[in-house]
Amino acid sequence: MQCRAKAKQSGQRCKRHTIPGGKTCVIHGSGTQAAKTAAVERLAALADPAVAELARVMRKGSPDSARLAAALGVLDRTGHGRSSTVHVPGLPALAEQLAALSADDKIKLATMLDEADE
Ligand SMILES: [Zn+2]
Repeated sequence: MQCRAKAKQSGQRCKRHTIPGGKTCVIHGSGTQAAKTAAVERLAALADPAVAELARVMRKGSPDSARLAAALGVLDRTGHGRSSTVHVPGLPALAEQLAALSADDKIKLATMLDEADE
């Protein structure tokens, strides 16, 4: 996003980018810790509506491309991008579960995955 600040002399709008979730660039006020915290909080508040929008698209299809892009942008900027991993408290990560399997169970799992591919 473009910074909202305007130059006092020329009246022209600043051409710098805002910080993620911010309204201004670092030169025009978003360099402070308070501004950074407020920007993170603004983005975090949008994460739930973004997930709701994705759920709506999944249920009904035919996404509004602008709404979908906005939702994906919010999720990318709040640490829930496409490559992020969800950890369920109390449930070990998949890698830990696989490491805990016995040799026989690993062979059974590999056989099941091979059969599923065919
Ligand atoms: Zn600026």
